[in-house]
Amino acid sequence: SSNMAKSKFEYVRNFEMDDACLRNCYIVVRLDGRNFHKFAEQHKFTKPNDDRALGLMARSARSVMGDLEDIVIAYGQSDEFSFIFKRTSTLFKRRSSKLMTHVVSQFSSSYVFYWKEFFGDQPLLYPPGFDGRVVLYPCNRNLKDYLSWRQADCHINNLYNTVFWALVQKGGLTTVQAEDRLKGTLAAGKNEILFAEFDINYNNESAVHRKGTTLIWEKVKETVTKRTKLPNEEDKEVPVTRSRRMVQDYHCDIIGEQFWQEHPEILED
Ligand code: ATP
Ligand code: ATP
Ligand code: MG
Ligand code: MG
Ligand code: MG
Ligand code: MG
Repeated sequence: SSNMAKSKFEYVRNFEMDDACLRNCYIVVRLDGRNFHKFAEQHKFTKPNDDRALGLMARSARSVMGDLEDIVIAYGQSDEFSFIFKRTSTLFKRRSSKLMTHVVSQFSSSYVFYWKEFFGDQPLLYPPGFDGRVVLYPCNRNLKDYLSWRQADCHINNLYNTVFWALVQKGGLTTVQAEDRLKGTLAAGKNEILFAEFDINYNNESAVHRKGTTLIWEKVKETVTKRTKLPNEEDKEVPVTRSRRMVQDYHCDIIGEQFWQEHPEILED
């Protein structure tokens, strides 16, 4: 620390590597649950989608956004979440390791901290872990394509899992039989199985499951009553309206242009 004289050991600091992210790029931190296939089984996640687990992921992501103010949008599905820092951010001098570890540790501790709010009395059996990575995107097109890639992944996996578990839970197939049945099928084939055999229209399935969760900052008007005291007068209750930034969640398409047109403040020129 600063009040200590420089010691002869101090030179070791020079071994640290400069890991500042390239200027002017969006900084994306993506985290992913470690071995959550097993974690989901051990904690009896419902198949194909456990809403408690998805709620806890989104709650933890909210906590990260509240903690690191330069995050402009976050997108999550399954056991992963991506956080996007604005291009001009100078948080932690854009140091990659600082940004990534703050995101992942805040997320992990929140996941444990809020567990009870979503799983009630069901115990958390061991401390879960998450990996993290940093990717830089130099332009809006690349960033939108990144998010589209994650949402397309959500769609592909969810369609597969929805049919797979319908075949097992409603069709009486074993997991091996269900896997065989789906081998080589395209999206249309999977939709057809759902519709013809289980009377399920995939488009009517829950939007959280089909589209994942997108978190953005939005201004909301808030009215609070304030007590004011004027000299020689009685106390007065006055309504005061102010606008506050709050994290809002969406379960909508972010691949098309509509979402971006409706929220032009997210991306910079
Ligand atoms: P930063 O986020 O930059 O790390 P910081 O407040 O954590 O900021 P550090 O240089 O990491 O700053 O110092 C950690 C501080 O935490 C110490 O200066 C001390 O005040 C406090 N602290 C940590 N551990 C203990 C402890 N075991 N007992 C008392 N104080 C502690
Ligand atoms: P890795 O450590 O390589 O990430 P992993 O087992 O976590 O391994 P992923 O590809 O990340 O593998 O897949 C996460 C798995 O966690 C899913 O395949 C699913 O089994 C389970 N899972 C995550 N979230 C949910 C949920 N909300 N509902 C049901 N299952 C879930
Ligand atoms: Mg993986
Ligand atoms: Mg995982
Ligand atoms: Mg994953
Ligand atoms: Mg510290």
